[in-house]
Amino acid sequence: MNNHSDSWACIHAGEDRRGRNTPLTEPIAQTSVFALSGIEELRRIAEGQSASYLYTRYANPTTRVAEQKLAALEHADDCLVTASGQAATLCAVLAVCVAGDEIVSMLDLYGGTLKLFEDGLRRFGIRTRFVPFGELGNIERYFSERTRVLFLETPTNPTLRCVDLEALAAIARRRGMVTIVDNTFATPILQKPLDLGCDLVVHSATKYLGGHNDITAGALCGSALAVAAARELMKQLGACLDPFASYLLIRGLKTLEVRMQRASENAGAIAGALQQHARVARVLYPGLASNDGHACAQKQMRGFGAMVSFEIRGGTPEVERFAQALETWTLAASLGGVESTFSYPLLSSHVGLTEARLRELDVSPATIRLSVGIENAAELIGDLRQALDRT
Ligand SMILES: *Cc1c(COP(=O)(O)O)cnc(C)c1O
Repeated sequence: MNNHSDSWACIHAGEDRRGRNTPLTEPIAQTSVFALSGIEELRRIAEGQSASYLYTRYANPTTRVAEQKLAALEHADDCLVTASGQAATLCAVLAVCVAGDEIVSMLDLYGGTLKLFEDGLRRFGIRTRFVPFGELGNIERYFSERTRVLFLETPTNPTLRCVDLEALAAIARRRGMVTIVDNTFATPILQKPLDLGCDLVVHSATKYLGGHNDITAGALCGSALAVAAARELMKQLGACLDPFASYLLIRGLKTLEVRMQRASENAGAIAGALQQHARVARVLYPGLASNDGHACAQKQMRGFGAMVSFEIRGGTPEVERFAQALETWTLAASLGGVESTFSYPLLSSHVGLTEARLRELDVSPATIRLSVGIENAAELIGDLRQALDRT
């Protein structure tokens, strides 16, 4: 915990250089191993009496700065950065669960997480029960004696549904369960799950935290004890982040707050403009007063985020014409960078799902997901309008 602003955390956390003649920016400790002063230092490390760096897979000074920034931003004791968001989720869950334990999660999960829970973790004897969105109010029905983890994601991908973190974490806490939240879409600038009673936060730092579509990285934030347990697993799994990627993450984090402010502002303007367009059937954005999740988002978020989804009038042929006509927006399967991109869930994140499942998730062949960047809002809207006019 600290009393600093998010701006301070982004720019200064982990980087105290007062009274020292050092580089102003964080040097990249591009090394796999660290020289030691002698056998005595090695002995102290072996006995757990020293915090000296030993080997980059365990810890690295550049990586550590990224961790300190994220811990400050999430109001966490500590943070662990990992090779990807998937690695962060795996380390978080394995820090809590052993074979025979159960996870309760949502059907509206990021596709990679869904696969990890349904396939990878199942092979380790950890089973997951997926709650449909409309059933979240009856979540206790899905708990069993063996449930250890409640894993949540909000706003969801791609329909941006909002889940009440404070209410669900309180229910889980009464049952002695650990609540883990994927905070990738909101970022700590807009939402701090630990302040709402959740226990652990995971991130795909590949998205907004890095912010420039140039790294693959993950992070996990929580109590010192939980992060230490996850770090031990990260060492065993070899899921460490490279020092150079850590540097790019630090570099990206410096502007996280201003990027999120600008991108969210753009997203609000874009959602409003899309709602006015005759070729748009429906806009999904928690910032719209008409959105089902508006009150929930208002309660737990400071801003509504930079992801906007909408349904075009028609289906796949109209989506194709729209995609072809766009000039500034790029078709790309990721999100969270400075550049505006769009994706088509039916053929990417939600490919191969049954019609019933797609209906349940509120995804259709007309659904388009926008990742709004930090360009000029009027230009972004102009491009969307001219492309919609051509459908
Ligand atoms: C991308 C993403 C992940 C997975 O992160 P990787 O960095 O690709 O491993 C997890 N959750 C959400 C919400 C994501 O968007």
